[in-house]
Amino acid sequence: MSLFTPSRRWQPAFYPFRKEKFARRLLAKTELLVKGPLFGCRMCGNCLLQETAFICPMECPKGIRNGPCGGTTPSKNCYIDETRKCIWYAIYKNAEKLGREEKLLEVLPPLDWEKVGTETWGEVAGHIRKVGNRKFIKDFLSKDKAKKTITWDLVFKTIRQPDWWKGDSDYHAPGYNEPASDLEKRLQAGEFVVTTEVTPPLNANTDRLAKDIEQVKRWITAVNFTDSSSARPRMSSVACCKKALDLNVEPVLQIAARDTTRTGLQSDIIGVNELGIYNILCISGDSAKVGPSPMSNMNILDIDSVQMLWLLRRMRDEGIYLDGRKMKNPPKLFLGAATSPLASDPTLQAIRDHKKVNAGAQFFQTNLVFDADRLDVWLEQLDKRNILDKIYILIGIAPLKSFKVAEYLHTKVPGVNLPDNVLRRMEKAGEGTPEEGIQIALELIASIKKKKGINGIHVMPLGWESAVERIVTDSGLKRYSNGLQ
Ligand code: SF4
Repeated sequence: MSLFTPSRRWQPAFYPFRKEKFARRLLAKTELLVKGPLFGCRMCGNCLLQETAFICPMECPKGIRNGPCGGTTPSKNCYIDETRKCIWYAIYKNAEKLGREEKLLEVLPPLDWEKVGTETWGEVAGHIRKVGNRKFIKDFLSKDKAKKTITWDLVFKTIRQPDWWKGDSDYHAPGYNEPASDLEKRLQAGEFVVTTEVTPPLNANTDRLAKDIEQVKRWITAVNFTDSSSARPRMSSVACCKKALDLNVEPVLQIAARDTTRTGLQSDIIGVNELGIYNILCISGDSAKVGPSPMSNMNILDIDSVQMLWLLRRMRDEGIYLDGRKMKNPPKLFLGAATSPLASDPTLQAIRDHKKVNAGAQFFQTNLVFDADRLDVWLEQLDKRNILDKIYILIGIAPLKSFKVAEYLHTKVPGVNLPDNVLRRMEKAGEGTPEEGIQIALELIASIKKKKGINGIHVMPLGWESAVERIVTDSGLKRYSNGLQ
């Protein structure tokens, strides 16, 4: 059990993939003996402790290095293991206490698996030697903060931000002028847009999928296709996007980090561009824990959603692969991210969202919102961070079909909370009376539309696609003629 971290247990340490020299093995063992109990270190060999408020993020069951994932429970525990605190919530809280919140904005790289399981002390000592032992100690003890930071970064930033990544805490404006998609064009023009979500089929037949797309196409700007949501395999998001294009509807491709590797992501992106898919939503994805048995490996993501954004933005704007190779024709991309404004403390959530914008997110589609007033704190925080003009925000809205659905969302879906009055209204309406659910959605939209910084809604019909037309028309949103027609 680690001493200073809130972890319930100490997760097993990683081991190197090759035999190391005796001296390095001894150093690694000593490092684990010290850093393990103190910080919950798992010997990832790519140490970030200085940037994560001295709590090892590798204790996160998903191994997210730019967390949290949006699945924190109302009691700030991890939705995968509710008996322990979300490690990223603990990191944010500790950073707040230490006055190091802004450190959390730096986009941290994925693991370099060459180093996994090996010691980092030797590397640190090597960099200190390069700076000069005396200079390092003198600057470190200096009262001059700027001097201290420069020397500290010469050692630790060099280690945590290798040349193939070069992550930072700055905003990088998109490096192109012409909108990549119709969705981007309409948002740029100031239109209050509507997107929706169509659930991919469970089999190889696309008749139902085509019917659902046809049903919503007149009312929306673009359709999202989920990437095996709830970790249950369905038709791939790419295949559904292709079907939407065949039906003249602009798609949003969702990519879950859960099933993605850095290699697969880069090759898929080039491929989908060839198909005409330009809107990409990068998400962490539900853990295998909530999926069917047998449970797949959920110990670690190869690349998290923030890293996906950073990597894809650099592919698009700098024309480079992660390994530094140049590409002749970079992909055209309009990059999006998911966010859960009401999942945990909105102030902390805003830091994470700021980081996503810096990494490359151009639009947010939020998790389901049932309490428009609670959005205000989050929006204020984004405003304070000066990012409202750098991101388009589409609020997630769902028409509740029954009290059962409302209860399920409230108790089972990570990051979704329904206020008591909504639950009571649905209960009172009784089963089989979906009108109340539509009314709740319409009231939410009316309230959301007035807020500064909101650019549209993302309707998640939860299998009730026919409700999209009603929501769009009754809320007075502009009837939309799909840009691809
Ligand atoms: S809630 Fe998400 S970020 Fe937090 S520890 Fe669990 S998996 Fe990691």
